[in-house]
Formats: sequence, C-alpha cells, structure tokens
Amino acid sequence: MMSNLAERLALVRERISEAARQANRDPAAITLVAVTKNHPPALVAEAIAAGVTDVGENRVQEAQTKLAALRELRPQVRWHLIGHLQRNKAQLAAELFDVVHSVDSLRLAEALARQVAPKRRLPILLQINVSGEASKEGFDLPGGVANHTGLAALLPVVASLLALPTLEVRGLMTIAPLLADPNAARPTFRALRELRDELARRFPATSWAELSMGMSDDFSVAIAEGATSVRIGRALFGARG
Ligand SMILES: *Cc1c(COP(=O)(O)O)cnc(C)c1O
Repeated sequence: MMSNLAERLALVRERISEAARQANRDPAAITLVAVTKNHPPALVAEAIAAGVTDVGENRVQEAQTKLAALRELRPQVRWHLIGHLQRNKAQLAAELFDVVHSVDSLRLAEALARQVAPKRRLPILLQINVSGEASKEGFDLPGGVANHTGLAALLPVVASLLALPTLEVRGLMTIAPLLADPNAARPTFRALRELRDELARRFPATSWAELSMGMSDDFSVAIAEGATSVRIGRALFGARG
C-alpha cells in the first residue's frame, strides 16, 4: 500500500517534470497539490510520509475532521481549499486553510476577509469559469479576455477584492471540462493564463503569479499552458469511495 502510493507519487512527479521540461519551465515552480477528498486521514498521513507537502480538500468540514486527526502533522503541510465555500463556513475555512483556491464571488471574499485576523493575510485565488459550463462555480467569463462585456463587468469586482486588506490575491484557478481528450482542455487553460496576463497588466501591484489548473487527466496540458499548481487526486490515490 505504502510503496504503491510512493510509486504513484514518484510517477506523477516524473510526469510533472517531463511536462515542465517540454515547456522550458522549471519543474520546481510547479506545486503538486495532492487531493485527498473522500479519503481517510490515514491515507493523508501516508501521503505526507511519502513526501507530499500540499494537500487539497474540497469540503471544509471534511478537512476539519482530518486536520483534527492529523494535528501533529499540521506544520509539515499546506492545506488548500479547492472546493466551493459557503459564506457561513468562511470562519472555519479561514482558520483551517493556508490557501483558498475557490473564491468565486465578492460576497464570499468579503465574508472571508472579515474572518482573518487583522495582522494576517490569507492567500487566495479567484476561481474563474472560462469554459462557460453552466454547472461550474467561479466568476463567469466564458470566452476569457475576448469576452469584452464580461471582462468589463469583472474588472471592478476584482478591484474591490484587491482592496480587502486581509486577503492576498495570488492568481487564478479553474476547472476544465471533463473531456475524453486532455488536449480539449487546452483552450480553457490558455484562456485562464491570458486572463491572468490581462489582470497583471491592469492591476500591477498584485503578483498574479499563481495559476491553479490541471487534474489527474489533464495536468500535462495545464503545465504546458502555465499551471503553477496542479490538483491531483485519482492519479495518486485511485478511485474515491
Ligand atoms: C477532486 C478535485 C480535483 C482532483 O481531481 P482528480 O481528477 O481526482 O485528479 C481537482 N480539483 C478540484 C477542484 C477537485 O474537486
């Protein structure tokens, strides 16, 4: 079991490095976020023992249970919230997580900002729905920067978000449509990168360095398009219960 996970981790790392090399990028600039949702704390502990430094969870309460079980491992790991966050769980999320990838509305950002201790700044990413799938969370910008009306509506929202003093916007996150051919996700990843570049031009005081995109089936394509964090579950842990 242990060696199995260690082998899968090594294989995923190798594929990340290979994708980075092919894109002339430094593999060390890409963070592997191991997505442990629906898996028990013991498996998270195993992953950490095997060298995982970043863990992704999509539900606040599930993460709370795991963090309680893994309290002594807390300092070794960064916890990433990658799933939709309800405003009534903002306080708990601000306490538990090191990074929130899934900020998808100004109201949520404001709720989160109120829960962060005044001297702290919580790193966040803005989740963007660039693919236009109705089922997806995120700020809607179907078509990306080519969508001029959508962009014009988004910019003042981003400006308000950047003004929240306890949040530190680091970049963008997206979920590509699930398609049989990973290359079909490329336009979504490219659209997120182009939006990031546009926001960096418009709001140069913010770094916008982070692009959280790519999952088990499409992370190589995401890395080719500039991903700095890939969120990988099944390729490491197999099917979820
Ligand atoms: C579950 C999940 C992942 C990981 O997906 P896999 O296909 O298991 O790699 C990544 N991102 C988000 C937002 C998820 O909910």
